[in-house]
Amino acid sequence: MKMGLENERIISNRQLILLRDISSLSAELNMPCYLVGGSVRDILLEQPINDLDIVLEANAIEFGNALVKKIGGRLTTHQKFHTAIWHLPESLAEHIQPSFLDLITARSETYKTPGALPTVTPSTMEADLRRRDFTINAMAIRLDGDHFGELLDPLNGQSDLKYGLIRILHPRSFIDDPTRIFRAIRYEGRYSFHLESSTSESINSTSLDIFRMLSGERIRHELDLIFEEEQALSMIQRLQELDTFKYIHQKLPDFNPAYSDFLEMDMGLDIPASRAALGYILWLMDLNEDAILSISRRLEFTSELTHSVWAASQLKKSLPFLTNSKPSLWALALEKLPLLSVYVVYLDSGEGSLLNYISFWRHVKPHTTGNDLKAHGLPPGPRYGEILTQLRAAWLDGEITNEKEEKELLNTLL
Ligand code: ATP
Repeated sequence: MKMGLENERIISNRQLILLRDISSLSAELNMPCYLVGGSVRDILLEQPINDLDIVLEANAIEFGNALVKKIGGRLTTHQKFHTAIWHLPESLAEHIQPSFLDLITARSETYKTPGALPTVTPSTMEADLRRRDFTINAMAIRLDGDHFGELLDPLNGQSDLKYGLIRILHPRSFIDDPTRIFRAIRYEGRYSFHLESSTSESINSTSLDIFRMLSGERIRHELDLIFEEEQALSMIQRLQELDTFKYIHQKLPDFNPAYSDFLEMDMGLDIPASRAALGYILWLMDLNEDAILSISRRLEFTSELTHSVWAASQLKKSLPFLTNSKPSLWALALEKLPLLSVYVVYLDSGEGSLLNYISFWRHVKPHTTGNDLKAHGLPPGPRYGEILTQLRAAWLDGEITNEKEEKELLNTLL
């Protein structure tokens, strides 16, 4: 079947021109060339494509060098995997997102042990499709010369796409690579598809047990991708329903449904944070310290993320002692905590002082600076910090309301 790729809603004009350039160069060099994976799936679903993955039944690095010679840009190569990343020249990069293309030599993969990274051998396009995760991701559109637009679908991905089915390519798929379980749930939730029945049955204690062989980094990466999805909550709940959590970590709790609305971050508050960080804090903040630290280690959280989860759990516990405190005391207690942690505890508790801190109090500063204190002849030392903190506290608590009052207070303090 030949696909028409001329639909601007799906492939932008510039993307199409680029594909045509790739088409003529690969024909000229006699290198069969294909668009593969997610972009083919999304073209068939008539959804805009995000990335362009190109597979060659030839040496992808050689082809990349030819592209650089003809069109420009720059190449990063991975000799071991026979792959390259072509960074588009600036004139194109301005208009095409992302500004690079993956160039892959068609390959087959074998797994020496379950959960290990595969051994890669150059191969045909069809074998390359057979190493993939699901039928809907195992289609290719040929690009070179007159073949432009030909759909290659040896595993009936098109039919599964039509019926909304996520289907693995062979019964050992999840055993070879259990990260595919997370991927399956991600596609199921994103497109409102269903797991085909034998695929669903393959998510069982045998395949889940292999999570133990996976590095924390690989598992966390998959969870990060899930949190970045619009339907993150239902995907996490689905993982829960499939009883996967205890295989990730014995103490990983259910996601508290009371927090479900909070996954949608209010960006209006200008808090720098990823949706994943927000997700992990909500998921884990009600655990005790030992469990938080143990799960953080298993999932190889950055120290920043571990600190954010821990800080939210501590703040939540100390909230009853802070209620009805003066603003200056709130500021003192919250200053050292990540803003996102404060925000999450605000979402959970509705405590107005936390919102006041985020929106106003944290920005309050006295007019007086260290230089002013120096000009007053104050010898260097801890008094500087103390005086500035006292001035700030007086502003926060409404004891002073203008610069003149601040000067008077400063004179008293000095
Ligand atoms: P998304 O829209 O989520 O980015 P994608 O299909 O582009 O989807 P990628 O993670 O970029 O996903 O992977 C590109 C392709 O590589 C997939 O379509 C799939 O064919 C293949 N692939 C990715 N991860 C695996 C895996 N763990 N096992 C087998 N094939 C995989």
